[in-house]
Amino acid sequence: MHVVIIGNGISGISCARYIRKLSDYDITVISGETDHFFSRTALMYIYMGHMRFEDTKPYEDHFWAKNKIQLLRSWVKSIEADSKKLHLACGSIIAYDALVLACGSVPNLPDCPGQDLERVQGLYSMQDLEKLEKYSDGISHGVIAGGGLIGVELAEMLHSRGKKVTMLVRESHYWGNVLPQEEGELIGNHIRKHKIDLLFHEELKSIDDDGYGKVDRIKTKSGEEILCNFVGLTIGVRPNIEWLKDTLLETGKGIMVDRYFRTNCTDVYAIGDCAQFRQPIEGRRGVEQVWYTGKLHGITAAHTICGKIARYDPGPWFNSAKFFNLEYQTYGNVPSQIPENMDTLYWKHPDKELAIRLVWDKRDSIFLGINVIGIRMQHAVFDTWLRQKKKIEFVLKNLGQASFDPEFFKIHVHDIAAKFG
Ligand SMILES: Cc1cc2nc3c(=O)[nH]c(=O)nc-3n(C[C@H](O)[C@H](O)[C@H](O)COP(=O)(O)OP(=O)(O)OC[C@H]3O[C@@H](n4cnc5c(N)ncnc54)[C@H](O)[C@@H]3O)c2cc1C
Repeated sequence: MHVVIIGNGISGISCARYIRKLSDYDITVISGETDHFFSRTALMYIYMGHMRFEDTKPYEDHFWAKNKIQLLRSWVKSIEADSKKLHLACGSIIAYDALVLACGSVPNLPDCPGQDLERVQGLYSMQDLEKLEKYSDGISHGVIAGGGLIGVELAEMLHSRGKKVTMLVRESHYWGNVLPQEEGELIGNHIRKHKIDLLFHEELKSIDDDGYGKVDRIKTKSGEEILCNFVGLTIGVRPNIEWLKDTLLETGKGIMVDRYFRTNCTDVYAIGDCAQFRQPIEGRRGVEQVWYTGKLHGITAAHTICGKIARYDPGPWFNSAKFFNLEYQTYGNVPSQIPENMDTLYWKHPDKELAIRLVWDKRDSIFLGINVIGIRMQHAVFDTWLRQKKKIEFVLKNLGQASFDPEFFKIHVHDIAAKFG
């Protein structure tokens, strides 16, 4: 049995590792980006000088041969699912018994004039980082289009090298399609404290050439003109599926899969950022584009491929991020606009950058989710409460249990509970 995995990111590598744990199948991992798996989430730290590329590789280079996982550096050009063959850019043809597509995402492009100019780029791959490094000496002012997680990382990266940074955000507050207004404002103010010029209700209209094929300035849809010599395009990512258009694979936003990561083609699986669930799991998105879900997808699919059929059951949604120095965690379902059937409580420390939002069902008081900013909470506790469908009264009473700093809650719990009324 020969399993071929396209993509050496967290999902593909987790799948390869677990297939090795569970079987003696031949495993080949193909990737065009790098020879070895690295932590994509640490790209920013390489640029900022906190880590070397070598430090972002979770496994030593000898790990792969020792574990009989063959690595191949190439781009896969096309897939023949009926004859179970892959065509590589280097001209080789590879046969497989089972194929795993773990080909990740690509950055969205705004479709505006000038986006192909030099010094205009997204931040996704190692090649993007190399490009940014190459341009860096010539950047004095960068404009970043898009107010999300990758946008703020790029802002922090440029800021760390003393560049002036302007961020264009379409919504009325930071990360407006994910965060409610208050959290967005709190994080937005934190970003501004770091001297990032954060502009709301602004979108990129065009990027002008300096006459030598490089960026000279941008224009926004509201008519602003900003002189700059770098443009970061961070308006989200989408599953990397364009190259699969001419295959038999069923695609929507991503490659359509069931809860076992099976596609519509026999013995072809899709995992990680590129996969889309035909039936989204309750309280979760159809396409899951975060690190821990990639890992879980890979481990689950490996079990099924090795005959230990496993259904994907990730439990309640959670995610975490850091915006400069401010930590953010979310558990369960906290919509950016709280709908009619939900109730919410938002508490913010009077002086510090600390905040909590709780959301529950209006009809039965069942706790649905929490956003936490500036306070570290324990994932396992919220996971249990959400699975057990605890009521909001219970959660408020026991909030201190979920904190790594129970003293903090002893001080503030009355204040938070008083807001509940
Ligand atoms: C800058 C940045 C910061 C992030 N920070 C966080 C974070 O803090 N927390 C978090 O949870 N998530 C974060 N994410 C998201 C997270 O990194 C992704 O969800 C995760 O890496 C996706 O893993 P994957 O295995 O699905 O795909 P990828 O990591 O994208 O790996 C796919 C690989 O497949 C290769 N490939 C694609 N097509 C082909 C082909 N045709 N032939 C050969 N190879 C191919 C690609 O080149 C790539 O190497 C971040 C993402 C970025 C870009």
